[in-house]
Amino acid sequence: MFNAVDHIAIAVEDLDKAIELYQKTLGFKVTHREHIEGYDVDIATIEVGGTAIELLEGKSDRSAIRRFVQTRGPGLHHIAFVVEDIEKSLQTLRSQGVKLIDEVARPGKENSRVAFIHPKSTQGVLYELVELPPRG
Ligand code: ZN
Repeated sequence: MFNAVDHIAIAVEDLDKAIELYQKTLGFKVTHREHIEGYDVDIATIEVGGTAIELLEGKSDRSAIRRFVQTRGPGLHHIAFVVEDIEKSLQTLRSQGVKLIDEVARPGKENSRVAFIHPKSTQGVLYELVELPPRG
């Protein structure tokens, strides 16, 4: 079901400061920035050896990223896997008794569709499923 790691997500307090750290201090290059309305987050993507790292800043209290940073501080937030058919994957997980945060897929970055698995079902790790848009 899981084809590849799509990205590793890091929750940050201030995206501009985080970008400065990753670009100026650590020498990475930000290749993409976007606001995801459904999650109310700003993201910046860093590509490294074919894997993306996403820096996420929650823009309001309705953002889970903002709440995460407020309670636990900035840090590793989730790992995302590419799946071919997100509905089918959610159905398979549900049939295995896996608890889901998103029962249906939601819009993600760059026209992808995403859904989160509940960390209670995955020994405390938050995983995301990503169905990439058709190439064209
Ligand atoms: Zn993600």
